[in-house]
Amino acid sequence: MLKRLRNLVLPSAPPARGRNDPSAVPARPQGSSPENIVAPCAPCFERRGTSGVSPLLRNDPSAEQRAAVLAGKHISYTLKRSSRRRSIGLRINDKGLTVSMPLRASERWLNSVLQDKASWVLEKLDSWQTRKAPVLNMSDGEFIPYLGEQLTLRVVAGGWSRSDRDTPDMPLAGISSVFAAPACQHGDTLWVSVQDEGDATMIERRVVEWYRQQAGILFAARVAHYAALLDVAPGAIKLSVAKTQWGSCNARGTVRLNLQLVKFPLRLIDYVVVHELAHLREMNHSVAFWKVVAVACPDYAKLRRELKTVSLS
Ligand SMILES: [Zn+2]
Repeated sequence: MLKRLRNLVLPSAPPARGRNDPSAVPARPQGSSPENIVAPCAPCFERRGTSGVSPLLRNDPSAEQRAAVLAGKHISYTLKRSSRRRSIGLRINDKGLTVSMPLRASERWLNSVLQDKASWVLEKLDSWQTRKAPVLNMSDGEFIPYLGEQLTLRVVAGGWSRSDRDTPDMPLAGISSVFAAPACQHGDTLWVSVQDEGDATMIERRVVEWYRQQAGILFAARVAHYAALLDVAPGAIKLSVAKTQWGSCNARGTVRLNLQLVKFPLRLIDYVVVHELAHLREMNHSVAFWKVVAVACPDYAKLRRELKTVSLS
């Protein structure tokens, strides 16, 4: 599974037992566990019979919003306490900083970890900020991304305008009332027909419908191609709208690919497809797994780095 998350778990674990809290669980370092360094892949969890979702992504009612001053900068973060944790973990993604800590760990320990890692936290927060995907403006004449290129969005109200209908190479020329018609790409233009050209919600709905249609066809073709190369037999191929994962794959062979991928160059889509299909051979991120990936995607390391520079949000 491909994630946009990186976890940092700090091996140092000052005593968690508070002076006024005799029942506190003593903290012990777990930083040496590989699972604690990178969020485990969903397939790894499924093999153990759990839900397939990283514990770090599950809803946690104990989460609370906090503020801190790190190296003179005010930041806010989400604090999560868990009886299962034995160390303090810091995670930064497009949502900001999340700190996970043992249930009864002391405030003093928390503060010392935050201050120790202040420069790392600020640097990562800054890099996520600059990586955020631009908000698309869904109106006539704007550009929308598709396979790494930009399409011009043309919006027509209540059907094609007379001049458009008169254009001989228009794909829907001659159709008088197409306001319910799906979006249609013609060259580097995506034509969207809505009743009210000022209805941004409906325009966006039409564009997303079109993205879904294109993604469904394209992803199925890429999966079929690379499945044959890797000699694997995937099950269902599903589109995902996950906020933090480009793709996932479970032990039943269901491959989920993020709809947002359709906006990016084909090479990145192929890398994610190969990555997930390789999990059908190796349900982990071991050396053996990357050897499988390399069979179909020799320059996977470069693509992996490139994928980390683009935002899913
Ligand atoms: Zn993976």
